[in-house]
Amino acid sequence: MTTHPMSGLPSNVVVRGRVPQAMLSGPVTEGARGGLIPLEVHLQDGRIAAVRPPGGPPSHAGATVLDLQGGIILPGLVDCHTHLDKGQVAARSPNADGRFVTALAAAAADAARHGGIDDLVLRAEFQLRAAFAHGTVAVRSHVDAHPDRFDRRFDALLNLRAAWAGRIAVQLCPFAGQDAPPGWIAHLAGRAGQGGGALSLFVQDGPGLDGFLDMAVDLAGRHGLDLDFHADETTDPASNATARIVAAVARAGFDRQVTVGHGVALAGHAPDDLARTLDAMAQAGVALVALPQCNAHLMGRTPGRTPRLRGLAPVHEARAAGVRVALASDNTRDPFHAYGDLDMVELFRDAIRFGQLDQPVGDWPAAIGPVPAGIMGLPSATGCIAAGGPADLILLTARNWSEFGARPATGRIVLRAGQPIDTTPPDWRDLDALDGMDP
Ligand SMILES: [Zn+2]
Repeated sequence: MTTHPMSGLPSNVVVRGRVPQAMLSGPVTEGARGGLIPLEVHLQDGRIAAVRPPGGPPSHAGATVLDLQGGIILPGLVDCHTHLDKGQVAARSPNADGRFVTALAAAAADAARHGGIDDLVLRAEFQLRAAFAHGTVAVRSHVDAHPDRFDRRFDALLNLRAAWAGRIAVQLCPFAGQDAPPGWIAHLAGRAGQGGGALSLFVQDGPGLDGFLDMAVDLAGRHGLDLDFHADETTDPASNATARIVAAVARAGFDRQVTVGHGVALAGHAPDDLARTLDAMAQAGVALVALPQCNAHLMGRTPGRTPRLRGLAPVHEARAAGVRVALASDNTRDPFHAYGDLDMVELFRDAIRFGQLDQPVGDWPAAIGPVPAGIMGLPSATGCIAAGGPADLILLTARNWSEFGARPATGRIVLRAGQPIDTTPPDWRDLDALDGMDP
């Protein structure tokens, strides 16, 4: 490189490297190899001025050239399913046996025992600091809506959201279960607009589900909200809440964004049944969010038994059926998932390997950029490398997907508005002051 990136960059820079075609806003196919296209990204005054094939006439005379020597250029990434309110409690509230039911109880106990607002904000901000350092520009978080605690916790997170505006676009979605009283869900629908506009619901297949969904869809329609479901987070193939969600959306003619997170059970469905569900999803415009790190950790866990399944929604079949598929982090260092750092580069690396999203990787990078940006309703340049968009880029030394998958991207450079940021994630010791924390 002609300039050391951490010394600050002039306002006029050309970054030379390879861009995933799926992260460009227009069709550029020339010279693509493995979905990666050699390109020059021209940055000026904090924005992307142009995206061009290399070797053309020098349109930016005097620009500093940052030559990645074939390294991959990613846009700022979008994490559309997280739980900022739950995260970073693994040391004080571990999951005794790693199972889902144990996680539900341990997370509820943690929130009841350590319900202080300072505790919540310190943990949530720690996760935003990590996401920012790793190059993420937008985060959607579900926010547990326990009637005793929700309003003051949501208010505190709304303040945090405002404080982070311009660094990370944070969306906060009130998150309740199917067992919550209808009046309480209505209260949450009244508040969801303040957090960015989606109501989040945990549903399970069973006799009461259709009525609950009709109520939720009606409520969302009246409040102008998108719907984001946790559904089929089980390896039990008898579960098909996703099909019921799609049917409820179709019954109501609901035309706002509907998203199904998890969808793990679909992987166990017979091919014809699965095809029917996925076709209906595509028809209704319902998006799927797979959570490969968390669900590989959590699903199909029985102490003493090696997991037989990967806990991954059938993402290949979904995409082939025309369903928009995103990949996201889900829980971070809590009873549901003991690991994770809201690092979408690392998430994508794991997803490629767990989900065989390769041979070729092709368009899969869209699942961490433009697709989740669309689900969140963000401006169209978000998660893309597009002329006119912000100069928010992640610059890697890896030149192809094999190099990308081989090593953690610890040497990445993250540019925000054309300037390198400190990519050091927050120190774990910053959490030691939390109530009950014992590292
Ligand atoms: Zn979740």
